[in-house]
Amino acid sequence: MTEASAPITQDVLTLPRKLPEGGKANLVGLTRDQLRAALIEAGTPEKQAKMRLGQVWQWIYGWGVRDFHAMTNLAKDYRALLAERFEIAVPEVVSRQISADGTRKYLVRIAGGHEVEVVYIPEEGRGTLCVSSQVGCTLTCSFCHTGTQKLVRNLTAGEIVGQVMLARDDLGEWPQPGQGATGERLVSNIVLMGMGEPLYNFDAVRDAMRVVMDGEGIALGRRRITLSTSGVVPEIARCAEEIGCQLAVSFHATTDEVRDRLVPINKRWNIKALLDTLRDYPKLSNSERITFEYVMLDGVNDSDADARRLVKLIAGIPAKINLIPFNEWPGSPYQRSSWERIEAFADIIYKAGYASPIRTPRGEDIMAACGQLKSATERARKSRAEIAAEAGLPA
Ligand code: SAH
Ligand code: SF4
Repeated sequence: MTEASAPITQDVLTLPRKLPEGGKANLVGLTRDQLRAALIEAGTPEKQAKMRLGQVWQWIYGWGVRDFHAMTNLAKDYRALLAERFEIAVPEVVSRQISADGTRKYLVRIAGGHEVEVVYIPEEGRGTLCVSSQVGCTLTCSFCHTGTQKLVRNLTAGEIVGQVMLARDDLGEWPQPGQGATGERLVSNIVLMGMGEPLYNFDAVRDAMRVVMDGEGIALGRRRITLSTSGVVPEIARCAEEIGCQLAVSFHATTDEVRDRLVPINKRWNIKALLDTLRDYPKLSNSERITFEYVMLDGVNDSDADARRLVKLIAGIPAKINLIPFNEWPGSPYQRSSWERIEAFADIIYKAGYASPIRTPRGEDIMAACGQLKSATERARKSRAEIAAEAGLPA
């Protein structure tokens, strides 16, 4: 295990996107204000800006259109102007695997050639898209495959929104212009539980979620979005105030001694500091319950005593406890708790009055289950100078 050297503070090199050939700026991921400013900067008269913004927004996020020339309610020369200055680009899907259980895993390539994974999980009556926020992760949780990969960079807001858009492309979910609501949604929920720590890429995640939540476009309400954090305490209140989505916390242990080992960020913000902040979250965000994620590791954190300590610790916080059977990956240092153990643990929590669903592993056959994601980017790991050069930056 690598916890002794674990970076527990933010150590992130954020690289702006390399402009594509021809220097066109991507409109995907811009907030309404930013998009309006971009349109004005390109020559849209201020008086028309509000209307043009609404039209372009609708084409991009309402109908999933990528070609300005298809925006038929705009004048032809205005379409040409936009096409000259801008592009509507989402990350490129390099491969798509479909599990025996219907789970889809997309490997997608972003600027600079780096790769992240996106997972779509169809369930009865809903479909959840698990979105990545970083390439790799600066944190080094010892049970997590992504944690063994060095962080390469933060994703931009456009690359985060783009993951939602490419899933809708693949599922054929964009309505036709003029068509009303299409009934049941294929991507009905988003979880920020892919690669990376979303609260260490706060601004991009916030802007991306604002685009996704916007009622005129993709329009997924804030209750359909869940952000999972390992416990970046100072950013949790901001998440409530600036995003207002549901919160999940990777809790995983009931003593600081064990949590320090499993989730090394605990050395910076321990269980008490985390719980103190969590107590305010529901009020601040007007959300109902916080999800406590708890990975079941054989002989490490799965005793009856752990279950009893867990319910004591979270007393007073509106909570749901999500038990995650550990998903193995090549070389992982733990084993999954037995089903009898997981059920006994769940039972103690349930009797204490909490919902305690056991998360069914999905897409294990394609390494798409929780904590199994890790892109091949690392295999060709590069120096910061090389990465900066690829992204079009001076090293
Ligand atoms: N960085 C964020 C979100 C991504 S991880 C976070 O840590 O919360 C999403 C969830 O999967 C977290 O609860 C994480 O602890 C859990 N997880 C990581 N590796 C796992 C594994 N191998 N098996 C089961 N769950 C795992
Ligand atoms: Fe990063 Fe989350 Fe994995 Fe920890 S569990 S290493 S925070 S992605």
